[in-house]
Amino acid sequence: MNMQNQKKLFQLGHVPMVRNLPCKSTWERIQSNVDFEPSKEGFSLYFTYTFPEEFSSSTEFAFTYPWTYEDDQTFFARLQELYSKHPSIYFHREVLCYSLGGNNVDLITISGQNGFKKEKEKRFNCRIFDNKIPRCAAFNKKVILLSARVHPGETPGSLVLLGLVRFLLSNDKNAARLRKEFVFKIVPMLNPDGILVGNYRMDCLGSNLNRVYNNPDPLIHPSIYSVKSLAIYHHIANSSLSKLSVSKLLNKVFPQYQDDNEMDEFLQSSDDLNHPELLTISSNESGIAFYIDFHGHVSKRGCFLYGNYFKDEKTQVLKYYSNYRLITCCWQNLYQ
Ligand SMILES: [Zn+2]
Repeated sequence: MNMQNQKKLFQLGHVPMVRNLPCKSTWERIQSNVDFEPSKEGFSLYFTYTFPEEFSSSTEFAFTYPWTYEDDQTFFARLQELYSKHPSIYFHREVLCYSLGGNNVDLITISGQNGFKKEKEKRFNCRIFDNKIPRCAAFNKKVILLSARVHPGETPGSLVLLGLVRFLLSNDKNAARLRKEFVFKIVPMLNPDGILVGNYRMDCLGSNLNRVYNNPDPLIHPSIYSVKSLAIYHHIANSSLSKLSVSKLLNKVFPQYQDDNEMDEFLQSSDDLNHPELLTISSNESGIAFYIDFHGHVSKRGCFLYGNYFKDEKTQVLKYYSNYRLITCCWQNLYQ
């Protein structure tokens, strides 16, 4: 059974989940005390459970509330059907890249039906995006970038992100204001391979993808390389710099940016995701308003934020408060 060696969580009262198909398809916590014991092989977990009497039923146990790759694909495919022609909400689903295992790393764009540029977003980096899927509309708005499941076992990250997506698509007047002011770029599963094999923190090669952002390899860490490219592209393209400065910098960072037709020859050209000029765009000028990456935690309780340090206390409070308001909306919409 794929239970996780999370002594701290079990000591805090965490218990596994159970469901019984086809009668009880909803996951419930096991109604028994749990004992945890480390051993040479790993650990042993003890609990009692009475199996139902129907022989044809099947009982499943899980470490916590699951949210699988299939759940995620079904959920966003359904939203695509519901919202892709909505009169006041802009919704677009595309493939940002494919994982090493060939699974989709989706990119969802949510905004209002306002603030469009004339053209669609460019395929600014020839190593990412599926050529057969149309790119989303380009907007004259700042971007809020959201992602989850770089650590595949941290399903609370997905559940909170889904709460935020539901809120953003709702009739709430604050959701409408957020859609009007911002464009939300959402990468719901950064590590689909790890999720499919049941890993807790690693990808299918045993790498902790959360540790490779400084220098991601497009061939070995495609999702991190792609989400970093996306962040840098919008940091420049949606910034308040002049059109000329934006174009010059995009050409420096993504040499293939200008030419949509001859992408193959650029595969050898080196993009520079750590170009020093990226730091010359101040946080106020940046096209990225926030980047929020959703995780779970083994010892902290409730909802909390880790964030950047700002020298100016007012900025620090403002940035944290804005994030906190967003996350609170997620919780409010989690169980609707
Ligand atoms: Zn994590």
